[in-house]
Amino acid sequence: MEIDFTSSGHIVGIDLGTTNSLVAFMDLTGPRIIPGADGDKLVPSVVSVTPNGGTVVGNPARELLITQPERSVYSVKRLMGRGIEDVAEELKLFPFRVAPGSESVMQLQLGNRTFTPPEISALVLRQLKQNAEDYFGVPVDKAVITVPAYFNDAQRQATKDAGRIAGLEVLRLVNEPTAAALAYGLDKRENGVVAVYDFGGGTFDISILKLHDGIFEVLATNGDTHLGGDDIDNLLLRIALEDVASEWGQDLSTDGEGVQRLRRAVIQAKERLSFVPSAMIELEYRGKKYEREITRELFDKLITPIVDRTLGPCRDCIKDAGVAVDQIDEVVMVGGSTRIPLVRSSVENLFRSKPHTELNPDEVVALGAAVQAAILSGTVDNKLLLDVTPLSLGIEIMGGVVSKLIHRNSTIPASATENFTTGVDGQTNVLIHVVQGERELVKDNRSLARFDLKGIDPVPAGLARIEVRFLIDANGILSVTARDQRTGKEHSVEVKPSYGLTDEQVEKMIQESVEQAEQDFSARQVREQRVEADAILLAVGKAHKHGAYSELADEERAAIDKSVNEVMLVYNSDDHHLIAAKIEQLNQATIKLAENMLKGTQT
Ligand code: ADP
Ligand code: MG
Repeated sequence: MEIDFTSSGHIVGIDLGTTNSLVAFMDLTGPRIIPGADGDKLVPSVVSVTPNGGTVVGNPARELLITQPERSVYSVKRLMGRGIEDVAEELKLFPFRVAPGSESVMQLQLGNRTFTPPEISALVLRQLKQNAEDYFGVPVDKAVITVPAYFNDAQRQATKDAGRIAGLEVLRLVNEPTAAALAYGLDKRENGVVAVYDFGGGTFDISILKLHDGIFEVLATNGDTHLGGDDIDNLLLRIALEDVASEWGQDLSTDGEGVQRLRRAVIQAKERLSFVPSAMIELEYRGKKYEREITRELFDKLITPIVDRTLGPCRDCIKDAGVAVDQIDEVVMVGGSTRIPLVRSSVENLFRSKPHTELNPDEVVALGAAVQAAILSGTVDNKLLLDVTPLSLGIEIMGGVVSKLIHRNSTIPASATENFTTGVDGQTNVLIHVVQGERELVKDNRSLARFDLKGIDPVPAGLARIEVRFLIDANGILSVTARDQRTGKEHSVEVKPSYGLTDEQVEKMIQESVEQAEQDFSARQVREQRVEADAILLAVGKAHKHGAYSELADEERAAIDKSVNEVMLVYNSDDHHLIAAKIEQLNQATIKLAENMLKGTQT
């Protein structure tokens, strides 16, 4: 990738989280988070559509989630780059709807608009970009974005698409644990082994990194894209819903607003429990009140199965990395859910060492992304960052069996080449079917792409030589080339998963989001003019009750009445220029009136 340093300006680091997103940059003192206009560093990854079709992102959207859940979406990262059947279970818990007829590209219905998951993420990214631009006072169009180490090719592609739709050139996708280690400056260690335990809102990741001579290498990654603080919330929510059902004799679970309010109450209690031994779940809703105390002891008992589900992947990861527990020098805690004392003690027990918790666990990843951004912009010493591919990649061979070309946990960038042959006499086409996963049979793995290599020499079975080359770039994105050695015929694809977005679709979305931005902007201007109109109409109304109005000459009063009528006629139009013109006309007509009023108040 070509990076133009002369015009690079500020390259920001972005943690595009399931629950919260953050933007950070590196200055002379180190990486720091850029707050939003409301002073908040965390931008909730929530998007809401207003009745007039505009979009709202972050804290205000989280408020709207309560009153208009059917027009709001959260945790969309869970849907990124995934097919409908992958997320069927999840969709049951989600209050938003998948638009009909969206088998190939999932579309979410929010009010009267539909969005793909990358478009939703793009709205969050746009907000972060805006926050950074407001902070710097200059445009920001380049970013490093982090992704869970466990993200597959499709999920990475979807994240890159989101960046493009938001008008950001994504210079690099970085694994979140790698970013966390960078934030803690662990690259300054000469040698050592580091475990990064990331327990956030929607995903759990464990990674083992090795440092040698200032070089970072991810030895192994493991995790669960279905495990996070959301699961704890859902568990507490179920209990609270049962309570409410028996206390109020009412099933709140069918009441969208009621459920969201209760979810909020449950999350508040959960977060307090990290710091105090007991907390209340409190809900006041439609004149009724629900209260329940949860002690730390009960909470720990309830969430033990969830916390335990993180420990299996940890053990597997240690095994994959080929290290013993006592060879792990440092453990880094990442993600808001690592504030929970039981999580900390469980991790400490497993790794037999006290984990790092000095930095804010929900800021660590964004801070590290900013460090990576600074590395790419050349403002800090270049370091070699090596990552690994989380899943094996291969092609289908005879009998529906997978031949793996690149094995899981291989260091990337990576490439592999293998020769295959034909199975049928005189065959002139070969279908190359690219799959991802650990299983032996094609049907048990994820299908990434299929393409035909055409025009190969019709020779007896077993004589053709087809060379297949896999290349994974630094972002973990795969391209595949197949070449007939006899004819030199070649075909290559950058692997785009079957349910991902095509380039044309992404272009179209970029276009639409620009158009939408104009529409959003003009809607705002219309609203502003209406506010102006309200103010002046109110003032004229007051003058009516005031002697100043009757003192005017007849034609002056007629001019005012005519202008008032015209303002009222255009008041509901969508043309802010027109409203402004009529306001100005009324302004002119009332100059004399205003003077009279002023005199009136002075005497
Ligand atoms: P993600 O990376 O998934 O976007 P974060 O790292 O921001 O998530 O973590 C969000 C999760 O952390 C949420 O489930 C939130 O409730 C949880 N969380 C935040 N603060 C606390 C706390 N004090 N105690 C327990 N959980 C917390
Ligand atoms: Mg996170």
